[in-house]
Amino acid sequence: MLKLEDSYIHKGQRKSLVKTLEKKGILDKKVLDAIGTVPRHFFFDSALHSHAYEDKAFPIGEGQTISQPFTVAFQTELLQVNPGEKILEIGTGSGYQAAILYLLGAEVHTIEYNKKLYEKTKKFLPKIGINLNFYHGDGSLGLAAKAPFDKIIVTAGAPVVPNSLLKQLKIGGILVIPVGDRNSQKMMKLVKKTTRQVTQEAYDNFAFVPLLGEEGW
Ligand code: SAM
Repeated sequence: MLKLEDSYIHKGQRKSLVKTLEKKGILDKKVLDAIGTVPRHFFFDSALHSHAYEDKAFPIGEGQTISQPFTVAFQTELLQVNPGEKILEIGTGSGYQAAILYLLGAEVHTIEYNKKLYEKTKKFLPKIGINLNFYHGDGSLGLAAKAPFDKIIVTAGAPVVPNSLLKQLKIGGILVIPVGDRNSQKMMKLVKKTTRQVTQEAYDNFAFVPLLGEEGW
């Protein structure tokens, strides 16, 4: 599937990263396997390759970041991905999170606000054998043209839960979204029980770049 150079050193570093994530509390074997499979260094500038398997966020240009592996694992675990599910990701960025969802067998639709990142990632992912549906636009409004979704994951910090996202979720669907102020957000998992009833659970604090746009900052 993946066509770029992936050495045994990188594979070893990925194994250690997976162990670190297990120690930090990630339990879902399928999520850990996906992180152990996707070569995160492919998503980095070559100057930063040696840092690719640290459990840290890194710059990807345009003032944006590739999320910390723990954050990716945590959000993916909350999303409870099943093969064939239609998932909307808001904030394509480097494409790493989208690649993890793809490996889990989801039909991934990913939307990015920044035109340069959208173009770069849309070109890059197919080169490593990952073919998704890419969109450029304001994901705070969701993606009405492709709704409804089984799951929605937001990878930027929102001031509130956007109404559009709840509307575009199927009954029984899950929305995972960091909500808070510009410096710190609580990870939230919302489950749409009926058209009128949504349950929500709050988890730890994270620090995401802001979700921009009409229903963002
Ligand atoms: N998921 C990404 C990855 O795996 O590399 C990391 C995402 S980065 C932390 C957040 C991304 O959200 C940035 O690329 C930013 O441009 C994008 N973003 C911010 N507001 C957005 C919006 N309203 N719609 C779509 N993307 C948005």
